[in-house]
Amino acid sequence: MKNRLAILGGEKTINHSFKRFNTIGDEEINAVVKVMKSGVLSSFLGSWSPEFYGGKYVKALEKAFEKKYNVKYALAVNSWTSGLICAVGALDIEPGDEIILTPFTMCACASAIIHWNAIPVFVDIDEDTFNIDPSLIENHITKKTKAIIAVDIFGHPCEISKIMRIAKKHNLKVISDSAQSPWSKNQDRVIGTQSDIGGYSLNYHKHIHTGEGGIIVTNDQNYYQRMALIRNHAEAVVGDMGRMDLNNMIGYNFRMGEIEAAIGIEQLKKLESIVQRKQEICNLLSQGLSFLDGLITPYINKKNTHSFYVYPIKLDKLKIRVSRERIVEALIEEGIYEGLANGYVNLHLLPIFQKKIAYGKSGYPWNLTQNGKTISYKKGICPVAEKLQDETLIMFEVCLFELSNSDIELIIKAFKKVWKNLDKL
Ligand SMILES: *Cc1c(COP(=O)(O)O)cnc(C)c1O
Repeated sequence: MKNRLAILGGEKTINHSFKRFNTIGDEEINAVVKVMKSGVLSSFLGSWSPEFYGGKYVKALEKAFEKKYNVKYALAVNSWTSGLICAVGALDIEPGDEIILTPFTMCACASAIIHWNAIPVFVDIDEDTFNIDPSLIENHITKKTKAIIAVDIFGHPCEISKIMRIAKKHNLKVISDSAQSPWSKNQDRVIGTQSDIGGYSLNYHKHIHTGEGGIIVTNDQNYYQRMALIRNHAEAVVGDMGRMDLNNMIGYNFRMGEIEAAIGIEQLKKLESIVQRKQEICNLLSQGLSFLDGLITPYINKKNTHSFYVYPIKLDKLKIRVSRERIVEALIEEGIYEGLANGYVNLHLLPIFQKKIAYGKSGYPWNLTQNGKTISYKKGICPVAEKLQDETLIMFEVCLFELSNSDIELIIKAFKKVWKNLDKL
């Protein structure tokens, strides 16, 4: 019975659930208590005053990020979605402008574009890194293109040098979304810091977190100021501040509280060791799984390091006839109850884009320009991303757990068992 798959009535390989990933310790708890005792849970004022830039802990968190990431400016926000909205708003985007991005990313990348009445243009991805394929970008640049959102998905950096070169040639700006790659390196530089504006998420699911939160980074003072305004009631402040570029100065409240900032300061100190452990776990997984026929373990480009938000596995459909869904089911039954998923996302296939119904029903903002009207989100425009989504990618969300080395051995054992019995599935 030991060799029979659990899905076919055999014994399970794994009989316990994995420990939840949790890096909140006494450091964070003590920091929070200190803020609570002070009674000052936020010091932001939505007017042009010293408190416009927030409280003591918010400023200290920003300083800590500036130092660690070696950037001139860091801005704390209440989520990285807010950060993306600030970043797009800081560029001189006009309604109907186009912004290029990958479809293989979290929806906030596209909604930050739509938010400013601009139009997302999806470009297919590289099969190995799952990031935008730079060789396809230029085909999609039009007179309306203003920027590229360069996402570093799953923990692997995108080809930022190539993207920056293309952007420079066509006078485009680049925003990095490194939410899943907070300490990944590209040629020894931390990813997210080589573009015009970058940033990281601090939500509960990410490597380090403050519950909810985000950090924007830039070396450009102008962008920094504009984003600080959008974060904090721009329209009411911008005049008093003496700024003349008043476009897109819709102000929000994207401010981070002092409690979150105090947690963030402690979490940032742990970032490197957290990423290092994820790398160890995933290297062990790759060593154990690399001999399975038709299973492709994650690729890491030599110029980069991977921070493994996700451990992405691919199936070689020429070698494996069983459906991915059946394989994932079998793995779940062996005891990997959480963290496995069939595919990721293809943003262009979401109803908002399929039906072009972002604002009302008349096709706004696509109907602003002739270009916009003809932009297609049909299935088939991103064949690589679609194939990964439909058939070949298995995501293992390693950031959910604190896996011990014996957990990793069991996971490998479960995969081996399923692979040995593929013909019975
Ligand atoms: C998590 C994530 C976001 C959004 O971050 P929030 O802080 O949850 O708003 C954006 N982009 C990517 C790639 C993400 O993984």
